[in-house]
Parts: sequence; C-alpha cells; structure tokens
Amino acid sequence: MSAQCTAGQHVSTRGSIRAMTLRGTHVIVVGAGIVGAAVAWSLTRAGARVTVLERAAAAATGATGRSAAGIRHQFSASQNVRFSAYGATRFARFRAEVGVDAGFRRVGYAFLVPETAVEAWRAQAATVRMHGGRVDLLAPQEAAVRWPWLDLSGVGLVSYGPDDGVLDPHAVTLGWLGAARAGGATVHFEAEVTELAPTAGGWRVHTAHGASLTSEVVVNAAGPQAGRVAALAGADVPVVPSRRSVYVTTPVAGLALPTPLTVDVETGVWLRSEGERVIFGRSNPAEPPGENERVDWDWLEPTLERALPRFPFLASAELDRRACWAGHYEVTPDHLPLIGWDPSLPGLLHAAGFSGHGVQHAPATGAAVASLVAGEPSSFDLTPFAPGRFADGQRVGGADEAAIV
Ligand SMILES: Cc1cc2nc3c(=O)[nH]c(=O)nc-3n(C[C@H](O)[C@H](O)[C@H](O)COP(=O)(O)OP(=O)(O)OC[C@H]3O[C@@H](n4cnc5c(N)ncnc54)[C@H](O)[C@@H]3O)c2cc1C
Repeated sequence: MSAQCTAGQHVSTRGSIRAMTLRGTHVIVVGAGIVGAAVAWSLTRAGARVTVLERAAAAATGATGRSAAGIRHQFSASQNVRFSAYGATRFARFRAEVGVDAGFRRVGYAFLVPETAVEAWRAQAATVRMHGGRVDLLAPQEAAVRWPWLDLSGVGLVSYGPDDGVLDPHAVTLGWLGAARAGGATVHFEAEVTELAPTAGGWRVHTAHGASLTSEVVVNAAGPQAGRVAALAGADVPVVPSRRSVYVTTPVAGLALPTPLTVDVETGVWLRSEGERVIFGRSNPAEPPGENERVDWDWLEPTLERALPRFPFLASAELDRRACWAGHYEVTPDHLPLIGWDPSLPGLLHAAGFSGHGVQHAPATGAAVASLVAGEPSSFDLTPFAPGRFADGQRVGGADEAAIV
C-alpha cells in the first residue's frame, strides 16, 4: 500500500529536502519507543495523520529506556554503517529540527580486536570509511597510553571511532513525540493493541480498553514484542526478545572520564562510564528468548570472569545492585532489522528487530518508513531489511554485530 506523494518535506540521506506528502493518510503506529517516535515524527512531517498506540503509561519504557544508548559507525554490514551515519547527522541537528537536546556525548567507541581478527577489522574500517565514518586503527601501545586501565594482552589493534558516542534516548523519544504532537499526531498511552483486523481499505485496530480505530496503514514498531504484534494480524515475524543485563558500579576512582564505550571483541564484554560509575555487560548466547525483565544475577560471575583480565580495575570496583537493570534486544535470525511492508498483508509495515541497534538506527528508520508509506523510492537500499527475506524458512545466519552493544 502506498499513499500519494505531492508536496511536503523529506530529508534524504544527503540531508537535502525533497517534496513529499501523505495527504492526511491515517497511520497507526504501534509502540512509543524511539523507533515508533521517529516514525511518528517523520510521517507527521510528511503530511500523514498519525496515531501512536502505546501499551505502557509512558514513552521509552521498553528497550529504549534500558539501552546503553551508544551510536557507532563501526559495523561490517554496509547498510548498518549507512544507517548509523545518517543517524549521527540527524542527532547532530536534533535541537534545530526538534527543539530538544539529544544529549549526544562524543565519548568514542573502542573495539579491542584480538590478533587473530586484525585483518577482518582492517577490512571493516575500509567499509566504514567508504560510507563517511571515521575509524582510527590504533596499535596496542598507543591505546595503552590513552587508556592505561586496559590490559591489552593478546590485542592486535584497537579500532576506535572518534565520532561515536552516546545520547539520551529518553530525550530523543520524547522530543520526537512532542514534535509529532505539535504537528497534529495523537499519542495514546495505556492503549495496548490486542487485535489487528484487515478491512477493505486498511486495518481495524482494537485496544485492551475497548477502543477501535481504523487506518490505511499500521506500522509495527513494538520493539521486542514486534513478533507478538505481527501475530495479531496473522503475520509471522521472527523478532524475539533476548534479555541483556547491565551491571552498574558505584563511582570508580582513577579512570580518566568519560571512557569510550569499550568492547572486548574476543569475550563480548563491553563497558563505559556513566558519570563516575561504570556500566558493563555481556550477552548470554545460551539464554533462550523470553520476556523476563529481572537482572540475571547468575550471569554476573561468568561476565566478571571474562571481564577481569581485560578490565582489571573492576576487581576493586563495587557493584551498586539497585542501579543494575535488564532489558531486551529485539533479535532477528540474521541480526538485521525488518523495515518494510509485510509480504502478505497489505497496509502492514514492520519497523522492528533492530537486534540491539535501534537507538542509533531510529532516524534512518523514520525516514525510510515515511518514503515507503508515500510510495517513494527510499534513499536507502532496504533490500537487506526486507521483512519477506525469511519467508523461505531461513532462521539462521547472521551478521557479526550480534553480541555487542
Ligand atoms: C541493555 C541494552 C543495551 C542496548 N544498547 C544499545 C546501544 O548502545 N545502541 C543502540 O542503538 N541500541 C541499543 N539497544 C537496543 C535499543 O534499545 C533498541 O533497539 C531500541 O530501543 C528499539 O526501539 P523500539 O522503539 O523498537 O522498541 P521499544 O523501546 O521496546 O518500544 C516498543 C514499544 O512498543 C510497546 N508495545 C509492545 N507491544 C505493544 C502492543 N501490543 N500495543 C501497544 N504498544 C506495545 C512497548 O511497550 C514499547 O514501549 C540496547 C538494548 C538493551 C536492552
């Protein structure tokens, strides 16, 4: 399904404005996380009539509010690099566009690459640079001077993104939703979508409190619950919630702050400073998908075992148990998102399955969804993200970005 395109505004990947309008097309967006907010804002700007339905009492309470908030250019899949580069540009303009500070802090992203993987990371750096991202490949000796708190034994190089950093996902989500509302969008909280029924011209959407709305288009931006929301319409969307625990220390002395978001590629342990504290984690690949939101205390010890040789200062750091949290990645079989029309249900569009990268990829997703709903060619090649790519039953595979923040 597509609506007509005649006038209005759309920001292309190069930042130019081109004409687009959706002429009052009604679009229901399911989910008020950062992706739903980006989609709502982009569609409102393009002239759509937008209604956001969120089951929680507030925005950004799902994966968005539990993320590590990182944005990086360093990916091996070029489409991820393009999405991040676009996101970085848009976050830099956030105050001008939306009137709110995105809270971006350029703390950098440092990947500690084992000797055995150096060639692959050199190749990745070439891909990143080709798409406009900056990467410095640092010798371990150089990295040791910059970050003396690291033990770099066995590290072949440090792949450092000086333009990468962290932002404030709450501020961004609320900023987009506020700007969308100012442009005419409606946002309903405590409005869990419980039924999605096709109609002649689109969808009838029912909520838990008995509301019933119709729209031409429904955008599934339900994050870790996107698989469940798709199932309400009869669609099979392989997005599952995968728990990630984030452990938080009390203030740590002796670190030059802020630290970059630092990832030990060999063990998958990541950490960064948050104020004077340090937050850290590591995915547990053996944990089955599920919606358990409690911190996994059993996973702390195995995480520390892997972390301590690389980050020895953690041995004397104190854990602040009450500050630790858990959230869910929204994982697809190949760790790439689903952005596009459902292959069999007209008017249903998925924007989900970001597999741990949805904060940084929200701006590009909003722009891409607006183009799709308008029936315009997207500035991005969305082929790798096509929801229909799993139709042949493919459930395995995967980009290498799975385990890391
Ligand atoms: C520990 C952790 C660290 C992370 N670190 C990073 C990072 O460094 N960088 C990065 O880019 N990403 C990171 N992520 C991933 C990122 O948080 C997600 O990709 C992103 O927030 C997804 O946004 P979303 O809007 O799709 O999902 P969500 O924020 O989960 O929003 C989906 C919304 O849909 C609502 N919803 C669900 N079902 C229904 C329904 N039936 N009806 C109505 N509403 C419904 C939910 O309540 C929720 O508010 C991290 C995630 C975690 C858990």
